[in-house]
Amino acid sequence: LTEREQDVLEEIEAQNIDFLRLQFTDILGTVKNVSIPAHQAEKAFTEGIYFDGSSIEGFVRIQESDMRLDPDPETFAVLPWRDNGEGGSARLICDVVDREGRAFAGGPRQVLKNVLSRAEDMGYTVSIGPEPEFFLFEKDDDGKATTVPHDTGGYFDLAPKDLASDIRREIIFTLEKMGFEIEASHHEVADGQHEINFKYDDALTAADNIATFRAVVRAVAEQNDVHATFMPKPIGEINGSGMHSHISLFDEDGNNAFADDDDEFNLSETAYAFMGGVLDHAPAFTAVTNPTVNSYKRLVPGYEAPVYIAWSDVNRSALIRVPDAAGVSARFEIRSPDPSCNPYLALAAVIASGLDGMENGADPGDAVREDIYEFDEEKRDEYGITTLPGNLGQAVTALEDDEVVAEALGPHVTEKFVEAKREEFAEYKASVSGWEKDRYLETF
Ligand code: GLN
Ligand code: MG
Ligand code: MG
Ligand code: MG
Repeated sequence: LTEREQDVLEEIEAQNIDFLRLQFTDILGTVKNVSIPAHQAEKAFTEGIYFDGSSIEGFVRIQESDMRLDPDPETFAVLPWRDNGEGGSARLICDVVDREGRAFAGGPRQVLKNVLSRAEDMGYTVSIGPEPEFFLFEKDDDGKATTVPHDTGGYFDLAPKDLASDIRREIIFTLEKMGFEIEASHHEVADGQHEINFKYDDALTAADNIATFRAVVRAVAEQNDVHATFMPKPIGEINGSGMHSHISLFDEDGNNAFADDDDEFNLSETAYAFMGGVLDHAPAFTAVTNPTVNSYKRLVPGYEAPVYIAWSDVNRSALIRVPDAAGVSARFEIRSPDPSCNPYLALAAVIASGLDGMENGADPGDAVREDIYEFDEEKRDEYGITTLPGNLGQAVTALEDDEVVAEALGPHVTEKFVEAKREEFAEYKASVSGWEKDRYLETF
């Protein structure tokens, strides 16, 4: 056992943990759990825990289904909402390995690790600060989720306190108990919508944190009998939920490689090249950062979500926004990702695009300081501004056509992902929506 693994065993003892949840995500980003009694922890560290990979979306075929979970001791965290006073549960996030102990190329966490080790070879660690948004909705009498915002449900309610902000506080306390450093939280633009920002971290930890964050938000909401959703656009004609991600690179001396105080926007050549790569490959990684049919209902003009592939320091209609920050905080924000994505694959795809930009000296062009939502096609052409894919089908095609992004995901994940998303889009195309019925049923 490593020293860190030894520490975890001691923690398990000291904190009276009965069960360990071994967590990993499938290709679509769903968190999977295998629960083991805590006394199996040592075995989990030394031998790993076997599971049937063929029952996991996008993993392997039946004939090669034996896979192992290899828990990462750095990710040990007690699950505060599982403590009944007598014994608690904790989780460990796992890498997936095959019978011989080789990293499984189809594991999303491995995909991200591969991209990050490329960054490391170039001399950098990647920092990500995610800003996931979500809605809290009422449940109906049968306990099913509605789209009634939780915080206007009590319109006539004379209760002195805002229940939603109590739930948000409870979410934050729970996250802090699990080791999160919360930077800010606020009520978002839409009724029932919230955002909680946690401190930036290296990209792998950030992806782990996003997966944990979603689980915590859902668990705390559930305990309060409301429904939390990370669906990108649950209600038409109001803001959807994004997951803006702030990006910077740090060099081996711990300096922010994106910083240049002499630049108008405080960004370095490295930052611009990385940004150029992100803009170049944006159509291709959109399938990964915005992986649902519903994601594309959010990426429309007028709701602070990006549609156009451009960067800006002032307006929020562009894909990339440069906040007013310098030195150690110099960074940019990519605004397209939404919280329905698989965080490991999404970060892997975006970072690989940026690294490609650095390798090829990509040029992001000039900042666009006007509201691009207001541009007509002619003006967009004049500025050389293209658009993000308009639906999941287009996005999947763009992904298949882009070697950089497809290579970053690897052939296994690309193939499984494309297959699953094509199917999802075909199913959607064959369905008839409420909007269509309302609009046409009685007209024709
Ligand atoms: N909800 C918006 C989006 O979809 C963002 C709003 C904001 O954070 N200013 O991205
Ligand atoms: Mg924010
Ligand atoms: Mg926000
Ligand atoms: Mg933001």
